[in-house]
Amino acid sequence: MRRGTLILDFDSTIVSVEALDELARMVLGQSSARDDTIDRIERLTRAGMDGSISIEESLAQRMALLSFTRESIPPLVDHLRNCLTPSFRRHRETIALLAPRIHVVSGGFIEWVAPVCQSLGILSSNCHANRLRFDGVGRCTGIDPMSTLARAGGKPDTIRRLRSDRSLYAPLVLVGDGATDLEAKQAGAVEAFVAYVEHANRPAVAAGADAVASTFDEVLSTWARLSGDSAWGHFGTPGGD
Ligand SMILES: [Mg+2]
Repeated sequence: MRRGTLILDFDSTIVSVEALDELARMVLGQSSARDDTIDRIERLTRAGMDGSISIEESLAQRMALLSFTRESIPPLVDHLRNCLTPSFRRHRETIALLAPRIHVVSGGFIEWVAPVCQSLGILSSNCHANRLRFDGVGRCTGIDPMSTLARAGGKPDTIRRLRSDRSLYAPLVLVGDGATDLEAKQAGAVEAFVAYVEHANRPAVAAGADAVASTFDEVLSTWARLSGDSAWGHFGTPGGD
């Protein structure tokens, strides 16, 4: 019997970049403050991901530095599709086959997380992220206050809610690169955490992980081992833990 649920992070895991950093580069264009603002946004991203400031603070400060409209989203989605992590893209058919057992839980925004994940065969209904707010002329005015994943403790809370509302198959194995992913494991929301280190290797995150992976092949073989389901192990090579 096939067991287990795979929960994936989005930024620096499914895609090789941080989407908000990429959005900043796109919308700031040639403005004179461009380099300084991008630098500030990237520093805030890193501080949120390594846990030196809360995700809430990191996200709120980055959003305050960015000004964009709905029209910026389709080009960002196209760009992010070109930034899919190659080993995930290579396993597109496997991902489509496993789709009912794969969820994406991201501190990013559903406006781009869902369409990018959909292009990999992941179901939109299995994508969980924050939501943006826009005014009547399409300007982004911030984060929808119902966005659980924009708050400290958002990942463990969301995963716990999913586990009960959607009757996810245990064990739950979470794959991601950031402090909020490790937090979900430490809070007991998942049975196992795999640190994804291909794009961002944070020693404090990897130290708290049950395994480390640097390709999706390693994720599949580690998932097979951790979930006790050998059916998918042949897709990958032994994990690097
Ligand atoms: Mg990430």
